[in-house]
Amino acid sequence: MSIYGDYIKSVIRTVPDWPQPGVNFRDITPVLQNRSAFRKLIDSFVHRYQDSELDAIAAIDARGFIIGAPVAYELGCSFVPVRKKGKLPFKTISETYTLEYGESAVELHSDAFRANDRILVMDDLIATGGTMLAAAKLIQRSGGQVVETATIIDLPELGGSQKIQEAGHGVFAVCT
Ligand code: AMP
Repeated sequence: MSIYGDYIKSVIRTVPDWPQPGVNFRDITPVLQNRSAFRKLIDSFVHRYQDSELDAIAAIDARGFIIGAPVAYELGCSFVPVRKKGKLPFKTISETYTLEYGESAVELHSDAFRANDRILVMDDLIATGGTMLAAAKLIQRSGGQVVETATIIDLPELGGSQKIQEAGHGVFAVCT
């Protein structure tokens, strides 16, 4: 957890029963609207990874982009979008994962990394961990090293972060 974790958590809004009954949606837009909270959020990641010698940040479509791009800019590394299926124009590699109902896939451009590039994978939230794990697999398949996975919010009761750790990746969450 970041030193700003409790503060960031207090600014995140929970919207009950959205997008469907039973889901507590964690809405980060109040953090983005609050200049102090937004800066502290980005600084939390920058502080953690400033000495990690990252080559790139691979951020997940779409809320991962909001945090991944400013962190990459601050750290002076490159930015790679991991996108939902069918959004990337060039040659892609794809990883399918299971959702509660049905399945989904994330994609990466086949030339996104050089062999052994040091990559941080970022998304806004870890629930079941399926999305983050699929992204990490894509990075490994394309020859990159996953340095860690990073998120704003971890929902540990859903077991996702544990699953990611069991797959051999560290997890950094600003708050839980
Ligand atoms: P999962 O693959 O189950 O870990 O789900 C993580 C992805 O789904 C992230 O990209 C989140 O943006 C989104 N997500 C899942 N559950 C929630 C939630 N309760 N609030 C906000 N976003 C969520």
